[in-house]
Amino acid sequence: MNSPFFTEDHEDIRDMARDFAEKALAPVAADIDKNDKFPQELVDTMAEMGFLGLKIPEEYGGSGMDMRSYVCVMEEIAKKCVTATLYISSANSLSTAPIIMAGTEEQRKKYLPGVASGEGMISFGLTEPNAGSDAASLTTKAVKDGDDYILNGRKCFITFAPIARYTTIYAKTSPEKGAKGITAFMVDMKAPGVSCGKPEEKMGQRGVPVSDVILDDVRVSKDCILGEVDLGFINAMKTLSVGRVGVAAMSLGIAQEALDLAVEYTKARVQFGKPLAKNQALRFMMSDMETKLNAARMLTYNAAWMMDNKQDATKAASMAKYYAAEAAFEIVNKSLQLHGGYGYSKEYEIERLYRDVRVNSIYEGSSQVQQMVIAGKLLK
Ligand SMILES: Cc1cc2nc3c(=O)[nH]c(=O)nc-3n(C[C@H](O)[C@H](O)[C@H](O)COP(=O)(O)OP(=O)(O)OC[C@H]3O[C@@H](n4cnc5c(N)ncnc54)[C@H](O)[C@@H]3O)c2cc1C
Repeated sequence: MNSPFFTEDHEDIRDMARDFAEKALAPVAADIDKNDKFPQELVDTMAEMGFLGLKIPEEYGGSGMDMRSYVCVMEEIAKKCVTATLYISSANSLSTAPIIMAGTEEQRKKYLPGVASGEGMISFGLTEPNAGSDAASLTTKAVKDGDDYILNGRKCFITFAPIARYTTIYAKTSPEKGAKGITAFMVDMKAPGVSCGKPEEKMGQRGVPVSDVILDDVRVSKDCILGEVDLGFINAMKTLSVGRVGVAAMSLGIAQEALDLAVEYTKARVQFGKPLAKNQALRFMMSDMETKLNAARMLTYNAAWMMDNKQDATKAASMAKYYAAEAAFEIVNKSLQLHGGYGYSKEYEIERLYRDVRVNSIYEGSSQVQQMVIAGKLLK
């Protein structure tokens, strides 16, 4: 692909990811969805190929690549197995961005190599039952006790929590200060008082466990604080900006696959004596799908480019996530429509894509939250 956003190195990593997705992931994606289980061998292979440590600096076991390399990998892998992208996005954004941004040298050495090797997953614990879009209203508390802190509260919808080694927990250290009284703590999932709720039975993106994390008088030392006390919310918001570009890239991959399936199907399926693809109404539908996909692509690549060039990409990341997630859902939905009744059958890949894409406009900040961020920057 010729694009002003990418170098040959980016295209090489894209080719590597595409090859892996086609050969290793496509044949097992339906089984992963059906069994709600992702094979450990594939996690190991992705770690060996460097996908889990793509953005982790080399001195901590990663490859130290940029945001555009990450986008290329996410897009290609999402075409064949959306679940696999969650292992990659967790490792390269929600798990590690808080530590790369705010961790001490010791914390980076302690936590990052395990994520790159796939042996020490970290989950991101922000959302609570009564604090979703309004994340700053979280009520998990961390109370100082000598040199330690005692954590109490409940997080929900925490991706990978049941198999994570650590979770970054955002807790109120100064409840009276609202968003400016939240601190990030690295919590050992085996520590006394930490437990997980039962894994959610999810509609899509299956093969990744998601559950509540319950904190019952959990004692953590002050060495587990990430960054400064009371400044954790900024850390969470910056992490989510990186995550949003990842979700946008994943949306591109899903949408491209859905469009490719629509083209193939409508050329082959004959009704009223001619292929569906010969109907102008359907050709126009597909030209809209192609146009929206390419618009989403430009927003996503641009946000990644801005991040690589150290520009403030907060609005760009929100626009990319908002538009790409909404466009991907529309494209997948239309592709399913073009498949007719067969699209509604689990025999066809589009049925899985329809379930997989639905959450992209909900998690890591819903579409409405992205609109709030965009409007906030526009109308400041
Ligand atoms: C599969 C999955 C994985 C997840 N993984 C993680 C994770 O690893 N870590 C983590 O911390 N969280 C995680 N989440 C949580 C996710 O980020 C939240 O679900 C999301 O932020 C929305 O919060 P909510 O579900 O409480 O919805 P709510 O905040 O209750 O919102 C409900 C609806 O109202 C809209 N809305 C809310 N307020 C407004 C407003 N002021 N104006 C207009 N519209 C509004 C929202 O956009 C949404 O459509 C995950 C969620 C899912 C489903």
